[in-house]
Parts: sequence; structure tokens; C-alpha cells
Amino acid sequence: MRVHYIEVEPKQEQAAASRITVGGSPIVSLGQDWPECGLCKAPMVFFFQLDIDKSSDLQLKPGSHLLVFMCPIHNDIPSRLMEYGDRTLPEKYWDGDFGHYALILNKPSKTEVKLDQANPLQLISFKYRELEEVIDWDGRTERGSAGFKLGGVPLWEGEAEFPTCCCGAEMVFVCQVPPGFGFPKLKGAAEQAECLMPGNYYLFMGLSVYLFACKDQCTPRSLYPVAQDIIEDQILSG
Ligand SMILES: [Zn+2]
Ligand SMILES: [Zn+2]
Repeated sequence: MRVHYIEVEPKQEQAAASRITVGGSPIVSLGQDWPECGLCKAPMVFFFQLDIDKSSDLQLKPGSHLLVFMCPIHNDIPSRLMEYGDRTLPEKYWDGDFGHYALILNKPSKTEVKLDQANPLQLISFKYRELEEVIDWDGRTERGSAGFKLGGVPLWEGEAEFPTCCCGAEMVFVCQVPPGFGFPKLKGAAEQAECLMPGNYYLFMGLSVYLFACKDQCTPRSLYPVAQDIIEDQILSG
């Protein structure tokens, strides 16, 4: 089986106007502020932003904008909020964790603003490359390609886990951040707390991250991160 997906790769020239970036200035809807950590109130680190490109075939409003933030101090994995049975997320699951990360998916808006605030990461602008994804099937699970990507099929280090939004809608697999993906820090910026490798910041301690969004986009925060770790899953499965 082949599935259309979009690889996210660095662009040669640094376009300040880019809407697909690591670091830089988050593009938010008017009235949204730079997120603060729910535990320590520190301004979060802005990791990356992506546009939901029409060419991605995702069942989300084209032109929607994804933003990913995490606390610089509370560098931790996301808590598991999914039920083991039907995998329906609890009411207001976006407030259900410790508040150490913020995931936002705004519908297309004419009233966007760029937030400018100190952020420890280098600005890297990205571009999309459309590809056909070759899907592996091991008799139980479909597995897509590795890499930083928009849409397609998750690679999954362990078992496939598809959450359902508390509103009842299915969730769409939006984005994959591969394991150990380093977000380069600016020269002179502080190192990430408990960083894996100096010079880089890591999202959710460098686990594989699969971001899901409510198909109905019932709120801008109706997103859920499934983070997986190869070693942990191998231990769990004995
Ligand atoms: Zn914090
Ligand atoms: Zn929903």
C-alpha cells in the first residue's frame, strides 16, 4: 500500500516569512498569548510550527496552523491520558496533564499575529516535499516511514494507538517527530534542563512523538501527543 505524505526538511534560505519553522516567532490567533508552564509559570520554549497544507490530504481544515511548545525546566514526557479500553480521551484532556507542554491547532484565520519573545532555539525554516509512503504491514500494525513528517502513517516504535477526542470525533494523525530529534539551540542560550545532548533541545525527552488532532477541531487545543520509547515498549512486552 502507498500513502501520500509530506516530509518536512530544512530549506536552504532562511525565510523570515516562513510559516513552517523550528524556533522563530510563533504565528498565533489574535488574543492568544505565549504559553506559560502550568507548574512553574516559565515561558515555554517554542519548538516548531507547521501549516496544514492542502496537499497533505489530512482531514483537517487546510491552512490550519499547528504550534508546539514545552517548558524549558519541566522537560518531561507527556502523561498517558488515554483509556486502555476504547482509547477515548477524558473531558478537557488538554488540561489533564501537568501543563508542561502546549499543543495548538488554529483554524485558518485572517487575524493572525506573530509573537516575538526570547526563545532559546535557532530559527530554521522548513519546506514540504510530497512523497509516496510505503507502508509496512506485519499482520497487526501498519507502519509508515521514519522522519519528521506531516500526515501519512505513523512509524510506531510499539503498538499503534489511535485516540478518540472527548467530543466523540476521531483524531487525525498530524505529525511525527522522530526519536532523538534535536532542535538546535542558539549560541549563548541556556542548555535544556536534563538535556540529552548539549547544543540541542529535545521535545518530550527525545521520544518518538505522534501528534493527533480532533478531526472536528472542536477547540484549538484538542490535540494529544502519543510518545513512544523503543526500550520501554520492549521491556513492557517482555
Ligand atoms: Zn515548568
Ligand atoms: Zn474534539
